[in-house]
Amino acid sequence: MGFTRPNIIRPPSEWKSYFLPLTSGCSNNTCTFCGYYGSKLQIRPVDDVKREIDALALFTRRGMWLGDVPEVVYAVAQGWNGKRIFLQDGDALVYPFPALKEILQYLSDKLPSIERIGTYATPQDILRRSSHELKELRELKLGIFYTGLETGDDELLDKIGKGVNSDDMIEAGRRVKEAGISSSVTVILGLGGVEGSQRHALETSRVLTGIDPDYAGALTLTLVPGTPLYDEWQRGDFHPLTPFQSLEELKSMIENSSFTDCFFSSMHASNYLSVRGRLPQDRARMLGELDKVLAKRDPALLRPEFLRGL
Ligand code: SF4
Repeated sequence: MGFTRPNIIRPPSEWKSYFLPLTSGCSNNTCTFCGYYGSKLQIRPVDDVKREIDALALFTRRGMWLGDVPEVVYAVAQGWNGKRIFLQDGDALVYPFPALKEILQYLSDKLPSIERIGTYATPQDILRRSSHELKELRELKLGIFYTGLETGDDELLDKIGKGVNSDDMIEAGRRVKEAGISSSVTVILGLGGVEGSQRHALETSRVLTGIDPDYAGALTLTLVPGTPLYDEWQRGDFHPLTPFQSLEELKSMIENSSFTDCFFSSMHASNYLSVRGRLPQDRARMLGELDKVLAKRDPALLRPEFLRGL
């Protein structure tokens, strides 16, 4: 079976990037809340990736199209400024290491204007690489990893099938930093439901502090049909938070995490309220914004449900 090009699901900060698929699906397809649950990992052949890079280089330099390259390549390339690449899909860092280096080198050779390459990376993928190997990737411009922490609560990590514990998460974060790669970590508000909310917030704060990432993003749980967590909710066994309870979790995480210098945001479209700033310096202002909304509890102050996105 040929390689199936994945849909584009990107971190908000990568909206200007060109999306280059190396894989489709996710190697850790067991997370019970995630749309990649049960997905089949496909590794794209190196020659196929190089062909796309050739096409991209030809198009950006001379505006020429190659007949055998899918149109989507040109659609994504139209508005591209030549500076950033995002490697798809769910965990492109799983791509075989020598082949990954070959592709990163090829990207730099063919498109020297590239300044930074980013990818989603599971903690498992990161821990599979030595510090030396991660530094090699850094030298080839792989400058940012996006990792789903989801929660720092070990019991919940186990329950959602994340495949790692909080110590693994912290160790993966440490290795990324040591290699000089920026780290962006996401957490999911509401993942523990009503019963697990307080522990989820406090334990996630503990692990965020341990990772001390450059960027941290809060998403709000969206129940996706076809996932085990969705089924649990349908059976009445999972009790989701109300929008205001999810803001209380967010507040607790901002209050209880301690960072050296982290851009913390809830700008993702899944959230009911967008709060952002640098921590620690903007903590008081961010908490003040949340307090104001929590005091009024007026749904009109929140993003309406129909505008929330994954
Ligand atoms: S949450 Fe991340 S690791 Fe888990 S299935 Fe989804 S993409 Fe894969």
